[in-house]
Amino acid sequence: MGVRRIDFDLCNGCRICVEACPMDVLRFDEATDKAFIKYIGDCQACLLCEMSCPVGAIYVSPDYERRIPVPLYY
Ligand code: SF4
Ligand code: SF4
Repeated sequence: MGVRRIDFDLCNGCRICVEACPMDVLRFDEATDKAFIKYIGDCQACLLCEMSCPVGAIYVSPDYERRIPVPLYY
């Protein structure tokens, strides 16, 4: 569950999603002039970013995904 993808080909750099996210997950990259997913672990899958993006560049997964913990030692 949560934000999974921002399509850079579609993103027009409007920053609406960055302002809309209540969890501060998204940030804006001045170098590329695109929004990007910075803190994916904080996403609450509220869909505000996906709904507010005027060009449909954001995909938020509604599916529950089991996260397998990465072992610290092998
Ligand atoms: S709202 Fe959409 S078009 Fe605007 S910065 Fe975010 S991803 Fe890009
Ligand atoms: S789904 Fe909600 S919490 Fe997650 S990135 Fe989008 S606006 Fe932020």
